[in-house]
Amino acid sequence: MEIAIAGAGIGGLTLALSLHAAGQKHVTLFEAARELRETGVGLNLPPHAVRELTELGLGDALAQAGVKTTELAYRDPAGKLIWAEPRGLDAGYLWPQYSIHRGRLHQLLVQAVQQRLGPDAIRTGMRAVSAANRAGGRIELRVRDANANLETCIEADLLVAADGIRSAVRDSLAPRPVPLASNGWVMYRGTTTAAPFLGGHTMVIIGDEHQRIVVYPIGDGILNWLLVRPRGGEEPASELGNWNLQVAPAKLAAFVQDWRYDWLDVQELVAGSAIAWEYPMTDIDPLPQWTFGRATLLGDAAHAMYPFGSNGASQAIIDARVLAYAIGTRPDVDQALQWYEQQRRPTTAEVQTANRRQAGDVMAKISQLARQAAVSDAAQELKQTESRYKQLAGFDVDTLNTRPSWSVIEGRPAAGGA
Ligand SMILES: Cc1cc2nc3c(=O)[nH]c(=O)nc-3n(C[C@H](O)[C@H](O)[C@H](O)COP(=O)(O)OP(=O)(O)OC[C@H]3O[C@@H](n4cnc5c(N)ncnc54)[C@H](O)[C@@H]3O)c2cc1C
Repeated sequence: MEIAIAGAGIGGLTLALSLHAAGQKHVTLFEAARELRETGVGLNLPPHAVRELTELGLGDALAQAGVKTTELAYRDPAGKLIWAEPRGLDAGYLWPQYSIHRGRLHQLLVQAVQQRLGPDAIRTGMRAVSAANRAGGRIELRVRDANANLETCIEADLLVAADGIRSAVRDSLAPRPVPLASNGWVMYRGTTTAAPFLGGHTMVIIGDEHQRIVVYPIGDGILNWLLVRPRGGEEPASELGNWNLQVAPAKLAAFVQDWRYDWLDVQELVAGSAIAWEYPMTDIDPLPQWTFGRATLLGDAAHAMYPFGSNGASQAIIDARVLAYAIGTRPDVDQALQWYEQQRRPTTAEVQTANRRQAGDVMAKISQLARQAAVSDAAQELKQTESRYKQLAGFDVDTLNTRPSWSVIEGRPAAGGA
């Protein structure tokens, strides 16, 4: 079967590796970027994503590239602890949680694809423009080839749109283009070389309903930070879904000028970043349909979500594993696509909605409780919220540790799969 994947990001690359592991021999990725450079800043891979990458044989590479996260802590703007919980192996999972530079994770996946599927498996400078189903179960992908400066058509038996939040393939197949949504908040991201804090393995969320910052180490003495706040009335709106907008760190440091604690100087951290990026908080509404004939959606193209809960990359990774499993174990492609969508669409819709709640109501409630000195109520609320979130996103500790693998060996589930 010929399989074309639009987009060689985290989801597309994991899909290529998963399909290859499940026995598919003809898989090609079409990536818009002309070069596969290390882009982005840090992201978190909780144990459900780490399990999948480990089962693809990438456990050791991840351990070298990432930092084990052993604690998640919430603190108020004065720096006072509201609540903390163990994470990864310390929480009883069989797999660690990693904080990692997105670029390093991306490179690790690129190298694995090139080694396993061959040096030509990723075709760069190939921007997917649109797709259309053809007779006989074939699908046509129209691609803008930046190398030859022309438009060309690729035919396949299956097309997977893994081309990110602004998916061109999705928008050409859906009845109408999918609008991007924003709650008016902006996410500012950067990395700074700085001394470790709170033991060197904590991910801390500091703030309240007005603004908050997430800080965690990603290795090589680098701290990753992510400041989230509403866009000021006087600030011009920026483009939704563009990960490459730069902003001066000095402007952002002013927002956290009072956030200086003896265990971490947040103002200095933000000011010390060589460069920072702004990304308006953007997602899409849960979609009613992912599969259109012989094409389906995966990752952000299917379910872009607000970055609360460390699940954007994780859900893309799980999509990839489930889709490859479906193709490896269902009787035909159409049934595989139907099964994949049934497995993944309702779950990811819940995660999208939960992330919207986390961004708004949950933080407001906790901050109010913490301000009233009802810290144990705030802690209880956070504990319940995190516990519910783990269940719906697929990383409740017991479920994850005991559920069957999504690996496929010679057309069969590796261990008691569905
Ligand atoms: C440049 C960049 C930087 C990012 N930085 C961060 C970050 O710092 N922190 C974070 O949490 N998340 C970041 N993300 C998003 C994060 O990678 C995704 O939310 C998540 O990993 C889901 O993965 P995905 O494969 O669905 O999408 P993505 O990882 O976004 O991958 C989509 C891929 O498709 C390619 N593409 C886009 N349009 C087309 C097209 N028309 N034809 C062919 N290819 C196309 C893109 O270049 C990209 O390689 C970034 C994404 C990008 C593209």
